[in-house]
Amino acid sequence: MGVGLADSKGEVNVECLYCKGTLVREKVSYAATRKGYHLIIDDVPAWVCEQCGEPLFDEETVDAIQEMLRS
Ligand SMILES: [Zn+2]
Repeated sequence: MGVGLADSKGEVNVECLYCKGTLVREKVSYAATRKGYHLIIDDVPAWVCEQCGEPLFDEETVDAIQEMLRS
């Protein structure tokens, strides 16, 4: 605990924004509401906090989701 992978890799921040817990790579369902539509996208790769369960999404994942929502 306490050593961030972000330092060595310089890519994603693998520390929970909320509780600083460890994030693990998982696939989650992403629920979005858009203009009154409820959308659920399955198998979205995300970093999920081991402590509080908050999912964090990569920038490219978010971009892909935005693309999906646009169509
Ligand atoms: Zn957390």
